[in-house]
Amino acid sequence: MIQENKTQKEKRPRKPAYKNREFPIKIIPLGGLGEIGKNMMVIESQKEMVIIDCGIMFPDEEFLGIDLILPDFSYIRAKKEKLKAILITHGHEDHIGGIPFLYKEFSHVPIYAPKLAIELIKGKLNEHRIVYEQDNLRVIGSRSLVKVSKDFEAEFISVNHSIPDSFSIALSTPQGVILHTGDFKIDNEGNDQHIFDFFRFSALGEKGVQLLMSDSTNVERRFMDMTEKDVSENLKKLIKDAPGRVIVATFASNILRVGEVAKLGIEMGKKVALFGRNMEGNFEIAKKLGYINVDDANILNSKNLKSYPEDKQLLITTGSQGEPMSALSLISQGLHKSIKIRPEDTVILSASVIPGNEKVVSKIINNIVLQGAEVYYQGIKQIHVSGHATRDQLQFMLRMIKPKFFMPVHGEPRHLMHHSDMVMKLGWPDKNVILARNGNVIELSQDKAEIVDNILLNSVFVDGTMVGDVNKLIRERKTMSEDGVIIAIAGVRVLGDEIECIPDVISKGFFIGNDLKSIQEEVKGIISRVVIEYIHNKGLDYNALNNLVKKGIERYVQSKFHQNPMVITRIVEIESQ
Ligand SMILES: [Zn+2]
Ligand SMILES: [Zn+2]
Repeated sequence: MIQENKTQKEKRPRKPAYKNREFPIKIIPLGGLGEIGKNMMVIESQKEMVIIDCGIMFPDEEFLGIDLILPDFSYIRAKKEKLKAILITHGHEDHIGGIPFLYKEFSHVPIYAPKLAIELIKGKLNEHRIVYEQDNLRVIGSRSLVKVSKDFEAEFISVNHSIPDSFSIALSTPQGVILHTGDFKIDNEGNDQHIFDFFRFSALGEKGVQLLMSDSTNVERRFMDMTEKDVSENLKKLIKDAPGRVIVATFASNILRVGEVAKLGIEMGKKVALFGRNMEGNFEIAKKLGYINVDDANILNSKNLKSYPEDKQLLITTGSQGEPMSALSLISQGLHKSIKIRPEDTVILSASVIPGNEKVVSKIINNIVLQGAEVYYQGIKQIHVSGHATRDQLQFMLRMIKPKFFMPVHGEPRHLMHHSDMVMKLGWPDKNVILARNGNVIELSQDKAEIVDNILLNSVFVDGTMVGDVNKLIRERKTMSEDGVIIAIAGVRVLGDEIECIPDVISKGFFIGNDLKSIQEEVKGIISRVVIEYIHNKGLDYNALNNLVKKGIERYVQSKFHQNPMVITRIVEIESQ
């Protein structure tokens, strides 16, 4: 189905043979509009549907212990037969992280993605022990044309971003071309093999684009004042001047940066060691695909690291966001099994700190500084550049495409708002700019684009391997963390008229001062009284007993201590001997 075309002429998306202009195209963002994360967009014609991206979001502190948050798939689930393809712009977690969960339900639908994203997706499917059909994971490249279905044809157009192999998608539909930029920036000096494909973008603009959906992340920044090349120059100087060992922390997905750091180190006579599971995994994939060219002889593993002189070592690690179990976090606290910070060390954080992570990252920096090492981070040295287009570049994209309708995507509410304002100030009428949020249903026709409906979306959380309703779980964890937990257990034995109850009580995180013993006895008394009275009057009903005992303990704790700990009860039958 994929055609890698060779000549300019053939590369133009053909108009779909099937044209039904009576029916508007529906566009439904299931994630990513109003947040940075879990990007997912549904585009639907009368009979067919495609998805662009399926990402996850990493929760902040208020989601106690939740691993990640997924978009709500209910809408797609209800229209399973219509779904024809999953189109992927690039391999970042907020664009592909949800695929294993989606694939479990929609394994019949082909996924079209860049080759790096395909490798990362395969890794995820393997991790989830999902058996997949090779044929379902289809690699696209620059200017690939995919005839997805009767109504849709997708063209992939290469852009620059903070992961190689990133694309915009131009989707031909019965109502015209919809261009989704994906995450992008323009960096003409970058070390990416792909160039930003000015030709295709301007050709599309020339031909006419009905709707442009564009990345809003960096709309608040006026200019792109740095390139990847500048970052590389600055890193080079720091590595060169470092008196001893160099430790660089960055995003594992920023493969080109990782490759660049490794290359710089090797050029200066150092050998490279990688820390972090994703860092090692991505490094292997990047080497296999040719994004990183490093001789294996220059890579140290944990065994030969020890016997190698420290001032000739360059370590590349995850943990730039302060992730608690990352190598960098452990190193900073002196807890890492093989790396201890020395005063001659130079630590470089080549990443921006994602909002919400400032505190933990600051703690890491302080811990390392206290051990005498030099630490460089964004703010005191320019050693990172964002992967998202700034305002000047967003305007450039808009002018080049000159779409009829515009919709900002990929951003928090303020980013979407500023992006809309920007477009209106440049002359687009209000009614042609759609400020949509997750769950809005937008209808696009020849002369209109508007929000016509709204579907209710739930956040779907993943905790370990479990998927479910986030709110109930968070409530429970909040209660436990604030007021503690009381666990009441009772064994019950009924022999004719004789009812025996053996209660026990455990409390955790619930403050009751010095009276622990006497209060435990009181609670045990409540359990016995409630159990015996109920069985005596109504017989044995474990559900009712659990409820009554729970209520009894809650009332007692509330009146005596004015606290509301979580109360868990387990009333079980003791076998009669
Ligand atoms: Zn991205
Ligand atoms: Zn993104």
